[in-house]
Amino acid sequence: MTLTSMLPEPAGAFDILVRGLTGQPPPALFLDVDGTLLDIAMRPDRVVVPPSLRIALARIHDGLAGALALVSGRPVDELDRLFAPLRLPAAGAHGAHWRRRSAGGTERLPDIALPAAIRADLFALQARHPGLILEDKHSSIAIHFRERPALARALATAVGSIVEAAGDDSILVLPGKAVLEVKRSGFDKARAIRILMAGEPFAGRRPIFIGDDITDRVALDAVSAAGGIALSVERPIGRAAGVFATAADVREAIERVAGLLEARA
Ligand SMILES: [Mg+2]
Repeated sequence: MTLTSMLPEPAGAFDILVRGLTGQPPPALFLDVDGTLLDIAMRPDRVVVPPSLRIALARIHDGLAGALALVSGRPVDELDRLFAPLRLPAAGAHGAHWRRRSAGGTERLPDIALPAAIRADLFALQARHPGLILEDKHSSIAIHFRERPALARALATAVGSIVEAAGDDSILVLPGKAVLEVKRSGFDKARAIRILMAGEPFAGRRPIFIGDDITDRVALDAVSAAGGIALSVERPIGRAAGVFATAADVREAIERVAGLLEARA
């Protein structure tokens, strides 16, 4: 029995999404990437972006007058590589940097780099354990252990000790799906959405956010509290109003709403 088959039926996530995208006030759509739009791969560089998804996202971006953004733990330039030739508005590295328009430049939060000692310790930890993948985003470092699942607990302890030894309360460990990420507090996907919403073409719209991971919870809760619509994937998270069973279901929904938005235009 899979995890998803034990969960209750999705609470009409598709219908909630359609209502939000076609209702008033006009919506802004924010989408997590890994585990929400894309199936999680053994290594983060092996995810697959189906061509039909690129096309559907481009159509929704146009249908919402540009108010569609990717909100990811991945850096924006990596999102651009993944989705090329599509270049969407995006917030990357959990909101460390962002751009509101597909053609615009990237803005960054200042002074959020990790201390050199923590960086060195995390690289040394990776060197001791073949199979760990270290993703250096400058503002944070993610350690992926999908290829070494047995290391999960020992790794959590080791990373926790490294952070504690630094004696800096503003640095935290963000757990995700087979990943631990070390970053400063004070920026996250909730703040990323707030920043994007503060300017055109997002300002004044009703936010809709779809996310799949515990790291998305702050954004799901913030969007819901702001009168927007929060939807999760695979399981209910925080204040999510509905649940898509899988990332494939989200992709299917995205392709269907692309057509719906165009039919209304
Ligand atoms: Mg995700």
